[in-house]
Amino acid sequence: MASNIGENGYDNSNRAFLQAFMARSSLTFEEARPILSAIFSAEERRPVDPGDVTQDDLSSYIGAANAAISPFDLEIRSTLRQTAQNDQNAAPERVYALVNSTSDSLTQLATTYSADEIAFVNRVFDAMFDAHNTRRTEAMVITGIQAVQLAKASAGEAGRRQSGNATQQSQGSGASQSLSMSQAEAMMKRLVEERWLEKSRRGFYSLSPRGLMELRGWLVATYNGENEDGDWVNKIKFCAACGEIIIAGQRCGDRDCSGRLHDNCMGNFFRMRKAEKCPVCSTAWPGDKFVGERAVTST
Ligand SMILES: [Zn+2]
Ligand SMILES: [Zn+2]
Repeated sequence: MASNIGENGYDNSNRAFLQAFMARSSLTFEEARPILSAIFSAEERRPVDPGDVTQDDLSSYIGAANAAISPFDLEIRSTLRQTAQNDQNAAPERVYALVNSTSDSLTQLATTYSADEIAFVNRVFDAMFDAHNTRRTEAMVITGIQAVQLAKASAGEAGRRQSGNATQQSQGSGASQSLSMSQAEAMMKRLVEERWLEKSRRGFYSLSPRGLMELRGWLVATYNGENEDGDWVNKIKFCAACGEIIIAGQRCGDRDCSGRLHDNCMGNFFRMRKAEKCPVCSTAWPGDKFVGERAVTST
């Protein structure tokens, strides 16, 4: 096979970029700059400064990568980070992630994690998006201690998973699905390293931008639906400005109203509406009712 597909313009530099991307699974513009500058330096046989790499450079390499990987049902998508990483006032960061464009479930973890590990991840997500995401407190986070307490599968969980959740496959019936506490601790670390979860300075784990992009549809299908009483419950809610799932931001003062806004989206939204009112019920926006970590820390 030729080393350079000239007519498509897809060359070794595109391959090098895709390879670097796949090794990291998610990337910001700032993280992409040194990668692209190294590629440009090698290509042009002269040093190219990371500061000279532009957003257009990144966009063009992502476009070429997407054309190359789409036959494999892979796609590089992007989303704005919902949780501030360091500087609260910094502009929201766009995060790019390589996601599976057809399979949208925890089964895609099956190639790298064992069945018991996936069952643990499922318990962690249930805690984040169900138990810690109630009408009173929409935290959608979990602490390390809480996660380790989920190491052991609850009695009857294996059976429930087998029959009740199509995304879950345990290895044979009666599989324990439990981890040791140190295994659970190691898993949380690995989920952060592989960028499924993020850990805040206060020690709360939340779903990462990559995790959100990969599991968007699965979250809605898993956590929105009828409860035991037959009432429809939307545990996963959406920002009224951008339409993306909200895992961190603000909510309406009325607990029964579905009005939610990302921190990033709020300023522009209220400026355009010329009023700080709930986008759904039009009551005054409280500004101190939070979704995400601050739902538990700002009391
Ligand atoms: Zn938004
Ligand atoms: Zn409202």
